Amino acid sequence: IITVGVLALQGAFSEHIQLLRQATADLSPQDLQWRLIEVRTPQELSQCDGLIIPGGESTTMSLVAARSGLLEPLRDFVKVSRRPVWGTCAGLILLAESANRTKKGGQELIGGLDVRVNRNHFGRQTESFQANLDLPFLSSSTSETSKEAPPYRCVFIRAPVVEKILPHKKGVQSEEERLDDTIVAPSKTPVDDLAREQLRSDVEVMATLSTRLPALQENQEHEHKAAEDIIAVRQGNVFGCSFHPELTEDARIHVWWLREVMQAMERRQQFELADRTR
Ligand code: GLN
Repeated sequence: IITVGVLALQGAFSEHIQLLRQATADLSPQDLQWRLIEVRTPQELSQCDGLIIPGGESTTMSLVAARSGLLEPLRDFVKVSRRPVWGTCAGLILLAESANRTKKGGQELIGGLDVRVNRNHFGRQTESFQANLDLPFLSSSTSETSKEAPPYRCVFIRAPVVEKILPHKKGVQSEEERLDDTIVAPSKTPVDDLAREQLRSDVEVMATLSTRLPALQENQEHEHKAAEDIIAVRQGNVFGCSFHPELTEDARIHVWWLREVMQAMERRQQFELADRTR
């Protein structure tokens, strides 16, 4: 049995459970059993082989997590036991090592992805929009043939983007991180830093969005600056995206991620086996 949890403190958690249910049915030919649970306590978290952190409001989610005694267990889940975690929108913010503060203030981050996110990147005017995008990771791994997957409808709601991939931090803040508007995930114990150093993977950019931003200067009124925003990244066991797959009926990303969970479990079993026979 594989247990997958969805952090259920705030936000779109039941939507994720719904799509996970659909995704496990799509995976059913393999004789595997899945258990899907809502996670509100450290005890529930400890049962999970993988975890989703949904979209919602990251400040609230982090405050409730702190109050429920979940922040440290979540950091351990991501960075010490290194089980697969996927954050969508607010979830991506919480999984970043660094984020900008908004007017309302900041929140405590969980960390795990060596990136800096810009919250509410698309601002007010475009608070919410949808875009049909080709997500390369869906084409390469979900089908046996090399056929390209049809576009995925990505829903962006006050969405963050990854504005920077950070060099691995070794427990010291960089000049930039000391800026007032920045929130940084706390460093774990030295043991964890060592483990991260050894097992550390690079940040992979999984998807980008081309946007056309209005020119900033008046004399460039009719020109537009093209930008390529990073909207999905993976680093080892941690995956994050700016948009909300849970607000669609398309379970392809959930299927893809459950395969990631399965692979992670296989790796873990092989590792434990090797450890035992040593
Ligand atoms: N901007 C929100 C935040 O800071 C995230 C929005 C979302 O998850 N839809 O938490």
